[in-house]
Amino acid sequence: MIVDVHTHVWRREHWSEELARESQRARGSPVWLEVTEEAYAQALRVVDRAIVFGLRARHVGLLVPNDFVAGFVRRFPEKLIGFASVDPQEPSYMVELERAIEDLKLRGVKLGPVYQNVHPMDKRMRSIYEYCERRHLPILIHQGTTFARRAPLRFASPLLLEEVAFAHPDLVMIIAHLGHPWIAETIVLIRKHPNLYADISALHYRPWQFYNGMMLALEYGVMEKLFFGSDYPFATPQEAIEGVRGINDFARRWSLPPLPDEAIAWILERDALRLLGLS
Ligand SMILES: [Zn+2]
Repeated sequence: MIVDVHTHVWRREHWSEELARESQRARGSPVWLEVTEEAYAQALRVVDRAIVFGLRARHVGLLVPNDFVAGFVRRFPEKLIGFASVDPQEPSYMVELERAIEDLKLRGVKLGPVYQNVHPMDKRMRSIYEYCERRHLPILIHQGTTFARRAPLRFASPLLLEEVAFAHPDLVMIIAHLGHPWIAETIVLIRKHPNLYADISALHYRPWQFYNGMMLALEYGVMEKLFFGSDYPFATPQEAIEGVRGINDFARRWSLPPLPDEAIAWILERDALRLLGLS
């Protein structure tokens, strides 16, 4: 069973002009900002289950409504688990969180402190953690760098999550993209905190970093805490699966030691939903 723990849905109108421009500049090609249910279903055919979310971050100009995400889940209920996103800069964010969980039946939360312009230990963030810890809702958190110019990198380091883990030891958090480029920080964190995990999305197209990150994870014995993710629509699950399976082509080409085949298989076949309490 392949579980994609990191897929996005949004429409063009959820993005500010500025953020769309910056995203395009960073990638060097247009970014797919119009995710229709049909396109999503087609791209997700190669995975068995997926976690889907938008993001709410007024500071950088991305506001995906939770109702929009819930609409995708209703359309593909056997495949999808929806996560809410709330922006602590919005006054009624806790009301929206409760509504998204209780009424819309979303089952986890997506946060991005660097996009939302808040410190991960900000008082407003703590209310979200408390809510999620009490209800066993996992948080997928973008704690890593970004292309968005307005996003302050001082809030981006994965190590800032250690205080969160100390204060909320039962809170389950998945650090997106292995916290790139601070992958070593993420690995030492997930090694020592039982409820911290990471996903490997958005790394296969940076093969040097991806290869080294996987080797580091292997050497520190944290392979079992990594989940597969595509970061759709930035990459399709098919491209991400090929990227993971092709990691040893990269190793061979540059005469580097290969990653054990079992490690690659574990990542793709791990039942992430069970480990996250979502099955
Ligand atoms: Zn993402």
